[in-house]
Amino acid sequence: MSSKETPAKGGEKEGIEKISRPGVKHVIAVMSGKGGVGKSSVTALLAAGARKEGFQVGVLDADITGPSIPKMFGLKSFTKGRGIFPAESKLGVKVMSLNLLLSSEDDPVIWRGPLIGRAVTQFWQDVEWGELDYLFIDLPPGTADAPLTVMQIIPLDGLVIVSSPQDLAVMVVKKALKMADSMDIPVLGMVENMSYFICPHCQEKVEIFGPTQGEEVATVTEVPFLASIPLDQRLAEHCDSGTVEDYSSDLFKKLLALTRLKA
Ligand code: ADP
Repeated sequence: MSSKETPAKGGEKEGIEKISRPGVKHVIAVMSGKGGVGKSSVTALLAAGARKEGFQVGVLDADITGPSIPKMFGLKSFTKGRGIFPAESKLGVKVMSLNLLLSSEDDPVIWRGPLIGRAVTQFWQDVEWGELDYLFIDLPPGTADAPLTVMQIIPLDGLVIVSSPQDLAVMVVKKALKMADSMDIPVLGMVENMSYFICPHCQEKVEIFGPTQGEEVATVTEVPFLASIPLDQRLAEHCDSGTVEDYSSDLFKKLLALTRLKA
């Protein structure tokens, strides 16, 4: 066992020991019930927000089914020298993703859960993250194998759940809560994405995917409601063009205000 693999305290479940990384102060995983609700976007906004507050920040992309995270930060490759070094965004967010290892951005990643789990474990253990105040993990959607491995192996400070009004949000949050509870991981908050759209012409607020459920879900599940994010063409454009850091968002500040994860 290397120095990076010392077991963390209080992390033992089903005989699996958590692997601590003393240089990384806080680890927050972002999860969703299904794909396409904006989980990667929320991860990117949280990371960019934390960086803008002056923190050392990393993103571990465990959702390897699409190139979202590297693409949002405008990254195409990582550095391999005496170790694996994460790619660094314009603002200095450190990013590691399996998609950075693929020879072409268009290569499909057809991996099964256990293999994804192993890759993510390696990213956590072996990547030269340096000193980080916050590491955000973009989990694969759902509550299957890979998210489970992350929760078993990595000592998480907590989870942020992302859903959309279309989603069966109560069910998604309850499922995530059950999973997190069984591993003693707190759920820090819930974000409702694509909640509404402000018409650029008349400024009318339109709830395209139906009425917002955020507050209601928060009451039923007792998970703090962090924010509702509107459907915003500018956010989609920034994500597509690799400039997500230029999008202004107070999501991280809201998370910090709600939790006590001060760096
Ligand atoms: P997930 O990680 O849940 O699969 P992504 O974060 O990759 O979802 O988002 C899917 C797509 O939707 C991306 O193209 C992203 O730019 C876009 N998107 C996400 N949230 C918003 C939003 N609030 N407004 C506009 N576009 C969004």
